[in-house]
Amino acid sequence: MDNFDVAKIRKDFPELERTVHEKPLIYLDNAASTLKCTPVIEALNLHYSHEAANIHRGVHYLSEMGTVKYEETRKCIQKLINSENDYQVIFTKGTTESLNLIASTYARKFLKKGDQILLSTLEHHSNIVPWQMVAEEVGAEVVEIPVNDLGEIDQDAYKNLLNDRVAIVSTNHISNSLGTINPIKEMIKLAHEAGAIYVVDAAQSISHEKIDVQDLDCDFLAFSSHKMFGPTGVGVLYGKEELLNKMPPYQGGGDMIDVVTFEKTTYNGLPHKFEAGTPHIAGVIALKAAVDYIQSIGLNKIKAWEHELLEYATKKLSEIEGLTIIGTAKEKTSVISFTIDGAHPHDIGTLLDRQGIAVRTGHHCTQPLMKRFNIPATTRASFSVYNTKEEVDALVAGIIKTKEFL
Ligand code: PMP
Repeated sequence: MDNFDVAKIRKDFPELERTVHEKPLIYLDNAASTLKCTPVIEALNLHYSHEAANIHRGVHYLSEMGTVKYEETRKCIQKLINSENDYQVIFTKGTTESLNLIASTYARKFLKKGDQILLSTLEHHSNIVPWQMVAEEVGAEVVEIPVNDLGEIDQDAYKNLLNDRVAIVSTNHISNSLGTINPIKEMIKLAHEAGAIYVVDAAQSISHEKIDVQDLDCDFLAFSSHKMFGPTGVGVLYGKEELLNKMPPYQGGGDMIDVVTFEKTTYNGLPHKFEAGTPHIAGVIALKAAVDYIQSIGLNKIKAWEHELLEYATKKLSEIEGLTIIGTAKEKTSVISFTIDGAHPHDIGTLLDRQGIAVRTGHHCTQPLMKRFNIPATTRASFSVYNTKEEVDALVAGIIKTKEFL
Protein backbone atom coordinates (compact mmCIF):
# COMPACT_ATOMS: atom_id res chain seq x y z
CA MET A 1 0.00 0.00 0.00
CA ASP A 2 1.78 3.07 -1.27
CA ASN A 3 -0.06 5.75 0.65
CA PHE A 4 0.16 4.05 4.04
CA ASP A 5 2.69 5.42 6.52
CA VAL A 6 3.03 2.64 9.08
CA ALA A 7 6.10 4.31 10.64
CA LYS A 8 3.95 7.32 11.49
CA ILE A 9 1.25 5.11 13.02
CA ARG A 10 3.83 3.24 15.11
CA LYS A 11 4.76 6.53 16.78
CA ASP A 12 1.25 6.69 18.21
CA PHE A 13 1.83 3.48 20.22
CA PRO A 14 4.51 4.15 22.85
CA GLU A 15 4.72 0.52 23.93
CA LEU A 16 6.25 -0.32 20.54
CA GLU A 17 9.37 1.48 21.69
CA ARG A 18 10.03 -0.94 24.53
CA THR A 19 12.16 -4.04 24.52
CA VAL A 20 11.35 -7.53 25.83
CA HIS A 21 14.25 -9.76 26.87
CA GLU A 22 16.49 -7.01 25.47
CA LYS A 23 14.95 -7.39 22.02
CA PRO A 24 12.64 -4.87 20.33
CA LEU A 25 9.05 -5.82 21.04
CA ILE A 26 7.24 -7.44 18.12
CA TYR A 27 3.65 -7.52 19.23
CA LEU A 28 1.57 -10.09 17.35
CA ASP A 29 -1.11 -10.79 19.95
CA ASN A 30 -3.63 -8.24 18.77
CA ALA A 31 -6.59 -10.61 18.70
CA ALA A 32 -6.18 -10.97 22.48
CA SER A 33 -5.77 -7.24 23.09
CA THR A 34 -4.35 -4.35 21.10
CA LEU A 35 -1.73 -1.90 22.32
CA LYS A 36 -2.94 1.53 23.38
CA CYS A 37 -2.49 4.68 21.34
CA THR A 38 -1.35 7.99 22.83
CA PRO A 39 -4.76 9.73 22.61
CA VAL A 40 -6.27 6.95 24.75
CA ILE A 41 -3.46 7.11 27.29
CA GLU A 42 -3.80 10.90 27.41
CA ALA A 43 -7.56 10.72 27.89
CA LEU A 44 -7.12 8.34 30.84
CA ASN A 45 -4.39 10.53 32.27
CA LEU A 46 -6.46 13.70 31.89
CA HIS A 47 -9.44 12.13 33.61
CA TYR A 48 -7.50 10.80 36.58
CA SER A 49 -5.23 13.81 36.99
CA HIS A 50 -7.75 16.65 36.45
CA GLU A 51 -11.30 15.49 35.99
CA ALA A 52 -12.00 12.55 38.30
CA ALA A 53 -15.48 12.63 39.85
CA ASN A 54 -18.56 10.47 39.78
CA ILE A 55 -21.09 11.05 37.01
CA HIS A 56 -24.89 11.21 36.63
CA ARG A 57 -25.54 12.15 40.25
CA GLY A 58 -23.81 15.47 40.84
CA VAL A 59 -24.61 19.08 40.17
CA HIS A 60 -21.03 20.15 40.68
CA TYR A 61 -18.79 21.15 37.80
CA LEU A 62 -16.64 18.02 37.58
CA SER A 63 -19.58 15.64 37.85
CA GLU A 64 -21.47 17.46 35.13
CA MET A 65 -18.41 17.59 32.87
CA GLY A 66 -17.75 13.88 33.41
CA THR A 67 -21.38 13.10 32.58
CA VAL A 68 -21.20 15.08 29.36
CA LYS A 69 -18.00 13.33 28.29
CA TYR A 70 -19.32 9.88 29.23
CA GLU A 71 -22.47 10.49 27.21
CA GLU A 72 -20.41 11.82 24.29
CA THR A 73 -18.84 8.38 24.00
CA ARG A 74 -22.29 6.86 23.82
CA LYS A 75 -23.15 9.16 20.92
CA CYS A 76 -19.82 8.37 19.31
CA ILE A 77 -20.54 4.62 19.50
CA GLN A 78 -24.06 5.23 18.22
CA LYS A 79 -22.54 6.82 15.11
CA LEU A 80 -19.82 4.17 14.80
CA ILE A 81 -22.31 1.29 14.62
CA ASN A 82 -25.22 3.33 13.22
CA SER A 83 -27.54 2.53 16.10
CA GLU A 84 -31.00 4.07 15.82
CA ASN A 85 -30.63 5.87 19.19
CA ASP A 86 -27.80 6.51 21.62
CA TYR A 87 -29.74 4.89 24.48
CA GLN A 88 -29.51 1.54 22.70
CA VAL A 89 -25.78 1.61 23.45
CA ILE A 90 -25.20 0.06 26.89
CA PHE A 91 -21.78 0.22 28.52
CA THR A 92 -20.54 -3.01 30.08
CA LYS A 93 -17.21 -4.46 31.20
CA GLY A 94 -16.62 -6.11 27.84
CA THR A 95 -17.95 -8.61 25.32
CA THR A 96 -18.17 -11.30 27.98
CA GLU A 97 -20.39 -9.19 30.19
CA SER A 98 -22.50 -8.04 27.24
CA LEU A 99 -23.21 -11.65 26.25
CA ASN A 100 -23.89 -12.65 29.86
CA LEU A 101 -26.29 -9.73 30.14
CA ILE A 102 -28.36 -10.95 27.19
CA ALA A 103 -28.30 -14.54 28.41
CA SER A 104 -29.28 -13.73 31.96
CA THR A 105 -31.99 -11.19 31.15
CA TYR A 106 -33.47 -11.75 27.70
CA ALA A 107 -32.85 -15.48 27.48
CA ARG A 108 -33.74 -16.26 31.09
CA LYS A 109 -37.04 -14.43 30.74
CA PHE A 110 -38.13 -15.43 27.24
CA LEU A 111 -36.65 -18.87 26.56
CA LYS A 112 -39.00 -21.79 27.10
CA LYS A 113 -38.38 -25.45 27.72
CA GLY A 114 -37.48 -27.16 24.45
CA ASP A 115 -36.31 -23.97 22.71
CA GLN A 116 -32.99 -24.15 20.89
CA ILE A 117 -29.99 -21.84 20.86
CA LEU A 118 -27.75 -22.23 17.79
CA LEU A 119 -24.04 -21.48 18.24
CA SER A 120 -21.22 -22.26 15.83
CA THR A 121 -18.17 -24.39 16.52
CA LEU A 122 -16.13 -21.21 16.04
CA GLU A 123 -17.42 -19.56 19.19
CA HIS A 124 -15.31 -18.16 22.00
CA HIS A 125 -16.21 -19.69 25.37
CA SER A 126 -17.88 -16.43 26.33
CA ASN A 127 -20.39 -17.04 23.54
CA ILE A 128 -21.01 -20.63 24.65
CA VAL A 129 -21.00 -20.87 28.42
CA PRO A 130 -23.54 -18.11 29.26
CA TRP A 131 -26.03 -19.81 26.90
CA GLN A 132 -25.35 -23.23 28.41
CA MET A 133 -25.96 -21.82 31.88
CA VAL A 134 -29.34 -20.37 30.97
CA ALA A 135 -30.29 -23.37 28.81
CA GLU A 136 -29.76 -25.66 31.78
CA GLU A 137 -31.91 -23.43 33.94
CA VAL A 138 -34.90 -23.17 31.58
CA GLY A 139 -34.66 -26.55 29.86
CA ALA A 140 -33.55 -25.20 26.49
CA GLU A 141 -31.03 -26.90 24.22
CA VAL A 142 -27.73 -25.58 22.85
CA VAL A 143 -27.14 -26.85 19.30
CA GLU A 144 -23.84 -26.62 17.45
CA ILE A 145 -23.58 -25.33 13.88
CA PRO A 146 -20.58 -27.17 12.41
CA VAL A 147 -17.67 -25.67 10.48
CA ASN A 148 -16.04 -27.07 7.34
CA ASP A 149 -12.35 -27.97 6.97
CA LEU A 150 -11.49 -24.39 6.03
CA GLY A 151 -12.91 -23.14 9.30
CA GLU A 152 -16.04 -21.60 7.77
CA ILE A 153 -19.50 -22.04 9.24
CA ASP A 154 -21.26 -24.73 7.19
CA GLN A 155 -24.08 -22.71 5.69
CA ASP A 156 -26.07 -25.73 4.49
CA ALA A 157 -25.94 -27.25 7.95
CA TYR A 158 -27.04 -23.89 9.38
CA LYS A 159 -30.06 -23.74 7.08
CA ASN A 160 -30.98 -27.29 8.00
CA LEU A 161 -30.71 -26.60 11.70
CA LEU A 162 -33.05 -23.61 11.57
CA ASN A 163 -36.58 -24.59 12.60
CA ASP A 164 -39.37 -23.13 14.68
CA ARG A 165 -37.79 -24.31 17.95
CA VAL A 166 -34.77 -22.06 17.41
CA ALA A 167 -35.20 -18.95 19.55
CA ILE A 168 -31.66 -17.52 19.47
CA VAL A 169 -28.73 -17.74 17.07
CA SER A 170 -25.46 -16.33 18.38
CA THR A 171 -22.19 -16.26 16.46
CA ASN A 172 -19.13 -14.18 16.16
CA HIS A 173 -18.61 -11.91 13.19
CA ILE A 174 -14.91 -12.82 13.05
CA SER A 175 -13.33 -15.84 14.69
CA ASN A 176 -10.59 -14.99 17.18
CA SER A 177 -8.85 -18.33 16.64
CA LEU A 178 -8.91 -18.62 12.85
CA GLY A 179 -9.76 -15.15 11.54
CA THR A 180 -12.76 -16.44 9.55
CA ILE A 181 -15.14 -13.64 8.59
CA ASN A 182 -18.66 -15.00 8.82
CA PRO A 183 -21.45 -13.96 6.42
CA ILE A 184 -23.56 -12.64 9.27
CA LYS A 185 -25.87 -10.45 7.21
CA GLU A 186 -27.21 -13.47 5.33
CA MET A 187 -27.21 -15.59 8.50
CA ILE A 188 -29.25 -12.94 10.35
CA LYS A 189 -31.82 -12.84 7.55
CA LEU A 190 -32.21 -16.62 7.68
CA ALA A 191 -32.56 -16.59 11.48
CA HIS A 192 -35.29 -13.96 11.28
CA GLU A 193 -37.16 -15.95 8.63
CA ALA A 194 -37.15 -18.85 11.09
CA GLY A 195 -38.46 -16.59 13.87
CA ALA A 196 -35.22 -16.43 15.89
CA ILE A 197 -33.26 -13.44 17.13
CA TYR A 198 -29.57 -13.06 16.25
CA VAL A 199 -26.77 -12.02 18.60
CA VAL A 200 -23.49 -10.87 17.05
CA ASP A 201 -20.23 -11.21 18.94
CA ALA A 202 -18.27 -8.40 17.29
CA ALA A 203 -15.25 -8.59 19.63
CA GLN A 204 -12.88 -9.26 16.74
CA SER A 205 -14.61 -7.30 14.01
CA ILE A 206 -15.17 -3.89 15.56
CA SER A 207 -11.68 -2.61 14.70
CA HIS A 208 -11.44 -4.37 11.33
CA GLU A 209 -14.86 -4.09 9.66
CA LYS A 210 -17.46 -1.37 9.20
CA ILE A 211 -20.42 -2.36 11.33
CA ASP A 212 -23.89 -1.01 10.67
CA VAL A 213 -26.40 -2.57 13.05
CA GLN A 214 -29.38 -1.32 11.05
CA ASP A 215 -28.06 -2.70 7.81
CA LEU A 216 -27.17 -6.01 9.47
CA ASP A 217 -30.53 -5.99 11.26
CA CYS A 218 -28.94 -7.84 14.20
CA ASP A 219 -30.91 -7.95 17.45
CA PHE A 220 -27.91 -7.60 19.75
CA LEU A 221 -24.24 -6.84 19.18
CA ALA A 222 -21.37 -7.00 21.66
CA PHE A 223 -17.77 -5.81 21.64
CA SER A 224 -14.84 -4.81 23.87
CA SER A 225 -12.89 -1.57 23.93
CA HIS A 226 -9.52 -3.20 24.60
CA LYS A 227 -9.45 -4.86 21.18
CA MET A 228 -9.76 -1.46 19.46
CA PHE A 229 -6.86 0.40 21.15
CA GLY A 230 -9.10 1.43 24.07
CA PRO A 231 -8.91 0.63 27.80
CA THR A 232 -9.68 -2.76 29.33
CA GLY A 233 -12.78 -3.10 31.50
CA VAL A 234 -15.12 -1.39 29.02
CA GLY A 235 -17.43 -2.94 26.48
CA VAL A 236 -20.61 -2.27 24.60
CA LEU A 237 -23.92 -3.99 24.18
CA TYR A 238 -26.18 -2.75 21.42
CA GLY A 239 -29.76 -4.00 21.37
CA LYS A 240 -32.94 -3.34 19.45
CA GLU A 241 -35.05 -0.90 21.44
CA GLU A 242 -38.12 -3.14 21.60
CA LEU A 243 -36.06 -6.02 23.03
CA LEU A 244 -34.11 -3.89 25.51
CA ASN A 245 -37.36 -2.39 26.77
CA LYS A 246 -38.99 -5.72 27.49
CA MET A 247 -35.92 -7.19 29.20
CA PRO A 248 -35.67 -7.17 32.99
CA PRO A 249 -32.66 -5.34 34.50
CA TYR A 250 -29.34 -7.15 34.77
CA GLN A 251 -27.95 -5.97 38.10
CA GLY A 252 -29.66 -3.96 40.82
CA GLY A 253 -28.08 -0.87 42.34
CA GLY A 254 -27.56 2.84 41.88
CA ASP A 255 -28.44 4.58 38.61
CA MET A 256 -30.66 1.77 37.31
CA ILE A 257 -33.63 2.76 39.44
CA ASP A 258 -36.48 5.21 39.15
CA VAL A 259 -38.04 5.06 42.64
CA VAL A 260 -36.99 2.73 45.45
CA THR A 261 -39.22 1.85 48.36
CA PHE A 262 -39.13 -1.24 50.49
CA GLU A 263 -42.48 -2.21 49.03
CA LYS A 264 -41.56 -1.85 45.36
CA THR A 265 -38.82 -0.48 43.16
CA THR A 266 -39.35 0.90 39.69
CA TYR A 267 -36.58 1.02 37.14
CA ASN A 268 -34.89 3.71 35.11
CA GLY A 269 -35.27 3.83 31.34
CA LEU A 270 -32.64 2.94 28.74
CA PRO A 271 -29.69 2.85 28.86
CA HIS A 272 -29.44 3.33 32.64
CA LYS A 273 -31.64 0.33 33.43
CA PHE A 274 -28.66 -1.83 32.45
CA GLU A 275 -25.88 0.27 33.98
CA ALA A 276 -26.06 -0.27 37.72
CA GLY A 277 -23.37 1.25 39.90
CA THR A 278 -20.42 3.49 39.14
CA PRO A 279 -19.11 2.54 35.72
CA HIS A 280 -15.56 2.67 34.34
CA ILE A 281 -15.90 6.41 33.70
CA ALA A 282 -12.33 7.07 32.57
CA GLY A 283 -12.40 3.99 30.38
CA VAL A 284 -15.62 4.97 28.63
CA ILE A 285 -14.33 8.50 28.06
CA ALA A 286 -11.06 7.13 26.67
CA LEU A 287 -12.95 4.75 24.37
CA LYS A 288 -14.05 7.81 22.41
CA ALA A 289 -10.40 8.70 21.91
CA ALA A 290 -9.85 5.19 20.51
CA VAL A 291 -12.76 5.49 18.08
CA ASP A 292 -11.61 8.96 17.00
CA TYR A 293 -8.14 7.54 16.45
CA ILE A 294 -9.43 4.67 14.29
CA GLN A 295 -11.51 7.10 12.28
CA SER A 296 -8.57 9.45 11.81
CA ILE A 297 -6.78 6.64 9.96
CA GLY A 298 -9.94 5.22 8.36
CA LEU A 299 -11.26 1.68 8.71
CA ASN A 300 -10.79 1.03 5.00
CA LYS A 301 -7.10 1.83 5.21
CA ILE A 302 -6.70 -0.25 8.36
CA LYS A 303 -8.42 -3.17 6.70
CA ALA A 304 -6.38 -2.90 3.53
CA TRP A 305 -3.07 -2.79 5.41
CA GLU A 306 -3.99 -5.70 7.65
CA HIS A 307 -5.05 -7.69 4.60
CA GLU A 308 -1.71 -7.01 2.97
CA LEU A 309 0.04 -8.26 6.12
CA LEU A 310 -2.20 -11.34 6.18
CA GLU A 311 -1.38 -12.23 2.57
CA TYR A 312 2.32 -11.63 3.07
CA ALA A 313 2.46 -13.63 6.30
CA THR A 314 0.35 -16.48 4.88
CA LYS A 315 2.72 -16.83 1.94
CA LYS A 316 5.88 -16.65 4.07
CA LEU A 317 4.62 -19.00 6.79
CA SER A 318 3.36 -21.53 4.25
CA GLU A 319 6.92 -21.90 2.98
CA ILE A 320 8.10 -23.24 6.37
CA GLU A 321 8.35 -27.00 6.27
CA GLY A 322 6.14 -28.81 8.75
CA LEU A 323 3.99 -25.72 9.41
CA THR A 324 0.24 -26.09 8.89
CA ILE A 325 -2.10 -23.13 8.91
CA ILE A 326 -5.35 -23.94 10.68
CA GLY A 327 -8.19 -21.87 9.23
CA THR A 328 -8.00 -21.08 5.55
CA ALA A 329 -11.39 -19.50 5.00
CA LYS A 330 -11.96 -17.58 1.78
CA GLU A 331 -12.93 -14.52 3.83
CA LYS A 332 -10.32 -13.99 6.52
CA THR A 333 -8.98 -11.24 8.68
CA SER A 334 -5.40 -10.80 9.91
CA VAL A 335 -5.19 -13.83 12.21
CA ILE A 336 -2.98 -16.84 11.46
CA SER A 337 -3.20 -19.94 13.63
CA PHE A 338 -0.73 -22.68 12.94
CA THR A 339 0.82 -25.88 14.19
CA ILE A 340 4.32 -27.21 13.60
CA ASP A 341 5.04 -30.91 13.31
CA GLY A 342 6.73 -32.21 16.43
CA ALA A 343 6.59 -28.93 18.36
CA HIS A 344 4.18 -27.99 21.13
CA PRO A 345 2.66 -24.49 20.72
CA HIS A 346 3.61 -23.65 24.28
CA ASP A 347 7.29 -24.25 23.53
CA ILE A 348 7.04 -22.28 20.28
CA GLY A 349 5.46 -19.35 22.12
CA THR A 350 8.06 -19.41 24.87
CA LEU A 351 10.98 -19.51 22.46
CA LEU A 352 9.50 -16.74 20.30
CA ASP A 353 9.03 -14.68 23.45
CA ARG A 354 12.76 -14.97 24.17
CA GLN A 355 13.24 -13.29 20.80
CA GLY A 356 10.90 -10.43 21.73
CA ILE A 357 8.00 -11.81 19.67
CA ALA A 358 4.63 -11.91 21.43
CA VAL A 359 2.23 -14.51 20.00
CA ARG A 360 -0.55 -16.41 21.72
CA THR A 361 -0.54 -20.15 22.21
CA GLY A 362 -3.23 -22.44 23.52
CA HIS A 363 -6.88 -23.06 22.73
CA HIS A 364 -7.71 -19.34 22.53
CA CYS A 365 -10.88 -19.94 24.60
CA THR A 366 -12.27 -22.08 21.77
CA GLN A 367 -11.89 -25.66 22.98
CA PRO A 368 -14.72 -27.05 20.78
CA LEU A 369 -12.95 -25.61 17.73
CA MET A 370 -9.65 -27.24 18.71
CA LYS A 371 -11.52 -30.52 19.10
CA ARG A 372 -13.01 -30.09 15.60
CA PHE A 373 -9.50 -29.87 14.14
CA ASN A 374 -8.19 -32.65 16.42
CA ILE A 375 -5.53 -30.46 17.99
CA PRO A 376 -5.04 -29.38 21.60
CA ALA A 377 -3.79 -25.90 20.72
CA THR A 378 -2.31 -23.62 18.07
CA THR A 379 0.19 -20.82 17.92
CA ARG A 380 -1.57 -17.66 16.79
CA ALA A 381 -0.10 -14.52 15.25
CA SER A 382 -2.60 -11.70 14.88
CA PHE A 383 -1.74 -8.43 13.16
CA SER A 384 -2.88 -4.87 13.71
CA VAL A 385 -2.49 -1.62 11.85
CA TYR A 386 0.94 -0.90 13.40
CA ASN A 387 2.56 -4.19 12.38
CA THR A 388 5.02 -4.34 9.51
CA LYS A 389 6.28 -6.81 6.92
CA GLU A 390 9.68 -6.66 8.66
CA GLU A 391 7.95 -7.97 11.78
CA VAL A 392 6.45 -10.80 9.73
CA ASP A 393 9.95 -11.59 8.46
CA ALA A 394 11.19 -11.61 12.07
CA LEU A 395 8.38 -14.01 13.00
CA VAL A 396 9.33 -16.34 10.16
CA ALA A 397 13.02 -16.21 11.15
CA GLY A 398 12.03 -16.76 14.78
CA ILE A 399 9.96 -19.82 13.91
CA ILE A 400 12.77 -21.32 11.84
CA LYS A 401 15.19 -20.76 14.72
CA THR A 402 12.67 -22.23 17.16
CA LYS A 403 12.19 -25.29 14.95
CA GLU A 404 15.91 -25.90 14.81
CA PHE A 405 16.15 -25.59 18.59
CA LEU A 406 13.30 -28.00 19.21
N1 PMP B 1 -15.52 -13.19 21.68
C1 PMP B 1 -14.45 -13.18 20.89
C2 PMP B 1 -14.57 -13.56 19.45
C3 PMP B 1 -13.21 -12.78 21.43
O1 PMP B 1 -12.13 -12.75 20.65
C4 PMP B 1 -13.13 -12.42 22.80
C5 PMP B 1 -11.81 -12.03 23.42
N2 PMP B 1 -10.76 -12.89 23.10
C6 PMP B 1 -14.30 -12.44 23.55
C7 PMP B 1 -15.47 -12.84 22.96
C8 PMP B 1 -14.30 -12.05 24.99
O2 PMP B 1 -13.95 -10.70 25.10
P1 PMP B 1 -13.59 -10.05 26.51
O3 PMP B 1 -12.60 -10.94 27.14
O4 PMP B 1 -13.04 -8.71 26.15
O5 PMP B 1 -14.85 -9.96 27.28
